[in-house]
Amino acid sequence: MTNRAKAGYVAMLAVCFAVAIAAGWTRLGAQFDADVYDFLFGLHPPRSEKLSSVVVGIDEESLADGGVGALRRLLAEALPAIVASNPKAIVVDVILADRGNPEEDRALAEAFAKAPNLVLATGLRRSGAGWDDPRPEFARSAAAIAHVHSDPDPYDNVLRQIPLEKAFERRRVWALALEAFRLASGAGPVVEDTKGIEVDGIRIPGRRDDARSMRIHYLRPDPPSAPSIPEVPLARVRKSPGGLEELRGKVVFIGITADSAAQDRHMTPYSFGHAMPGVQIHANAYETIARQDFLRPVSNLAVVAACAFLTLAAGWLFWRYSGWRAFGPAIALLGAVHLAPYLAFRAGWVFPYAPPFSTAWLSIVSAATAQYFLVRGRLGQTEAEKERYQRAIHFVAHEMRTPLTAIQGSSELMGRYKLPEEKRGEMARMINAESKRLARLIQTFLDVERLTAGQMALKREPFDLRDVVDVCLDRVRSLAERKKIAVAGEPLEAVIVEGDQELMEYAVYNLLTNAIKYSPTGTAVTISGGMKGAACHLAVRDQGIGMDEQEMKGLFRKFYRTKKAEQSGEKGTGIGLSLVQQIVSHHGGRVEVASTPGAGSCFTIVIPASVPQPGS
Ligand code: ADP
Repeated sequence: MTNRAKAGYVAMLAVCFAVAIAAGWTRLGAQFDADVYDFLFGLHPPRSEKLSSVVVGIDEESLADGGVGALRRLLAEALPAIVASNPKAIVVDVILADRGNPEEDRALAEAFAKAPNLVLATGLRRSGAGWDDPRPEFARSAAAIAHVHSDPDPYDNVLRQIPLEKAFERRRVWALALEAFRLASGAGPVVEDTKGIEVDGIRIPGRRDDARSMRIHYLRPDPPSAPSIPEVPLARVRKSPGGLEELRGKVVFIGITADSAAQDRHMTPYSFGHAMPGVQIHANAYETIARQDFLRPVSNLAVVAACAFLTLAAGWLFWRYSGWRAFGPAIALLGAVHLAPYLAFRAGWVFPYAPPFSTAWLSIVSAATAQYFLVRGRLGQTEAEKERYQRAIHFVAHEMRTPLTAIQGSSELMGRYKLPEEKRGEMARMINAESKRLARLIQTFLDVERLTAGQMALKREPFDLRDVVDVCLDRVRSLAERKKIAVAGEPLEAVIVEGDQELMEYAVYNLLTNAIKYSPTGTAVTISGGMKGAACHLAVRDQGIGMDEQEMKGLFRKFYRTKKAEQSGEKGTGIGLSLVQQIVSHHGGRVEVASTPGAGSCFTIVIPASVPQPGS
């Protein structure tokens, strides 16, 4: 694969990664994550055996005696029965900020005064004017004042988490569920740091900069319209002055559950259209803390790292392997991406689903597509090479057939007729020369193939490069004369090269014939050489058609011919230069090319050589 293709592949994967991460954090991604979260909730509900809370619901039946207006009287009447049941804490999820009927307020204040571990509710006014604190006569008896705020998700209004902390005008208030837990467990003040808080030795995750948001691990109501925490109607409590066994030793959450009156209802992951009353939500938050059944969000950095790993894995797989060896592990990777959020959820971690999901799919599909096109490209290249090869074979066969026909014809004539001695001699010489030429061509071709395949060792005999140049100049003379090209060898000093003289002759001969073939009539070709350091530079220079940068790139590839060469009408196979290069490199040298279109080319063989010592 070329460097450009590699860079393109890496860039494509980087774009996949960036797009997938960005998509994962869009609103659509967030909604997708939330839906998966709710689905996982259904798959893995918490166990509800040892509950330590009870809801005293102010339901329709409880309100039958006076309606919402009679709430304080109803509460004042029920509280002695709740106190008599000896609960761990009493949490009142009703904001008692306004002045009511003085008679009823006094009765309620008296009832509160007898309630141990009492938590009363406050909240921020919607107008932003401050806290809606309970009236001072009630607040006096409260062990804690706690907020009742919730934090429904902005997109679908489902309540998945609550802020444990709410601050306004330099006053910070803890959530109802947290204060209930703190009082019930008899713990001192909340200990806090930036990443979480600690109550009674229990660490509750929740970052300060995120209002210490805590996900509620709801108990699953069955059916969805049923309460998820056991509920006792307030009416029943009022009728049991001696106390109720269900409330003993429990944290009692009192709040409105009547459909007609409860305004703080919310959808939960289990809702299926049935909103849950606020008091049930607070009790569920309390149970989450009591069970220590926290669902922690995985950090953004971990998500990005996981996504980066997925992109790298997909990229590597399709880079390294193809077919099932790439697709098999890729499918396994996708499976893991789909399963991981579930396993993480079971272990108490909330892993967003959209970013890894989109990263894995996008990276795998892109990498596989890139591989497909790359393979197709290579296939196309091979096809083209095959076609060139066939053409070349065709041509080589043709080139061989012409001299063979001549040889065949002449030998037949000689055998059949009595020819004059002179004619016979001429024919015999022609037969000899043609067959030698053919044999040499075939031999060179085979030798280089064998050398390259490692089936043959290079001959290592010292020879004088001057002899090689002389032989070649002799051989190309007739060709040059035919094209009226002056071929000149500049006087060359004696240089000794170790190797195969015949192969070297082929190389130099080939450069000379190319120079003549690809030059117009009337130009000149020169061959010159000399030592530079430990190497001899042997240059063949012409004033021919030349080549541009692009054309020079494929020069040493087998069967490569430039367009200009094809158009020149000169016959060729495109094998010559590839053989030249292989021969020279087997001798430890290299071929350098300099060329200007229309002005000429210079091919230089640079080869390790030595100057013979006098007397040797
Ligand atoms: P052939 O000459 O049989 O086509 P070669 O392998 O010897 O094959 O050369 C490959 C190609 O390189 C030629 O077809 C021609 O396009 C280009 N070439 C080689 N030598 C020269 C030259 N001296 N001037 C211009 N082009 C050349």
